[in-house]
Amino acid sequence: MEANYIVVRFGELTTKGKNRKLFTQKLLKNTKEILYEFPKLQYHLQYDRLYIYLNGSDHEAVNEKLKTVFGIHSFSNAYKFEKDLHIVKDAIVHIIDEDTRTTFKINTKRSDKTFPGHSQDINREIAGHVFHHVHRPLKVDVHHPEILITVEIRHDAIYVMNNVIKGAGGYPVGIGGKAMLMLSGGIDSPVAGYLTLKRGVDLECVHFAAPPYTNEFAREKVFDLVDKLRHYTHGSIKVHVVNFTKLQLAVYDHCDESYAMTVMRRMMYRVGEKLALKNHCLALVNGESIGQVASQTLDSMQVINEVIRIPVLRPVLCLDKLEIIDIANKIDTYDISIRPHEDCCTIFTPKAPATKPKSYKAKAFESHFDYESLVDECVETVETIIVDNSYKKDENIF
Ligand code: ATP
Ligand code: MG
Repeated sequence: MEANYIVVRFGELTTKGKNRKLFTQKLLKNTKEILYEFPKLQYHLQYDRLYIYLNGSDHEAVNEKLKTVFGIHSFSNAYKFEKDLHIVKDAIVHIIDEDTRTTFKINTKRSDKTFPGHSQDINREIAGHVFHHVHRPLKVDVHHPEILITVEIRHDAIYVMNNVIKGAGGYPVGIGGKAMLMLSGGIDSPVAGYLTLKRGVDLECVHFAAPPYTNEFAREKVFDLVDKLRHYTHGSIKVHVVNFTKLQLAVYDHCDESYAMTVMRRMMYRVGEKLALKNHCLALVNGESIGQVASQTLDSMQVINEVIRIPVLRPVLCLDKLEIIDIANKIDTYDISIRPHEDCCTIFTPKAPATKPKSYKAKAFESHFDYESLVDECVETVETIIVDNSYKKDENIF
């Protein structure tokens, strides 16, 4: 017997009062887009659950995709029956008969209070039926059953479930607005992006490229990372590629080597903020982690951050590199991130960057050249690409 439904539970959403309708509808929209490869699925949104009718689709394949949808607390493969306990009892006999394990528990939830009988009585009645018709040794275990059968009696139907699969948690992407992720080809920034999406914040990405010092492979790496991240959204992410070469060379021409990194990152923040505002993003997101490199000491962060006004979210700020790598492996970005290609930050790496830079010194170096028009040029010449379901099916992207 094949499960023909999936019952989806929302978790944290239940606490959101008036906004819950917005939440559940966003979740439904995102779920449909993430499951776009299964056109036969039918969705039925109720107050506290989403029911997906499989309609012949492979439930294992759907389960795998469903695990990436933020806002889903858990889900179960389910069988839907008309409200006749005889049919339900026979079906449960069938399910337990097909299983080889020996301890079980029936857990009835009667959300339709007009349905006759108490939950406990129904549990006993079903278990009795199972003992009578399954011809192998079986035992009820109410604390740690190997087979847990949940029977949900609702107004429209009875659902029978024998598994609970953990969902991705968090909030539906988009419910918390949109932010601009500074995406390098490294390990940290894709993880920062994933954690932001998990909180329901949608993303666009900005990548700073320095052609010809950075090449097509570095570019491809970034798109490949976005291709992984987009599976946690509604299927597509916009990437803004900034041609940073001119501005970066100007920074190295006019700054002392020890300040080049600080000033260069101040420029990145300036361009990032302008692009964020232009694209209705409420914050910047990056993969900075306290103390990881010279530009990520608190002193550096302060001097770099002071040039912009919008908030900068740093989801991996307090994580160790190994903790970040764990998440990168989980979301399948690690192997892409470690492909060896130059980033614009690494090609001109100064030998001894200041770990305690001073604001007045950074400003003094910046006064040596007209960086503002170069920043504007970066914003005006930006190249915007959408990574979606057609990625790598459409060869024109590179
Ligand atoms: P990652 O931090 O992603 O592993 P990284 O360690 O090479 O890459 P850092 O030098 O630590 O990058 O830079 C800190 C953060 O600045 C990055 O996490 C990223 O958010 C941002 N950043 C660095 N380089 C770029 C770039 N070329 N384009 C966009 N953002 C960048
Ligand atoms: Mg880093």
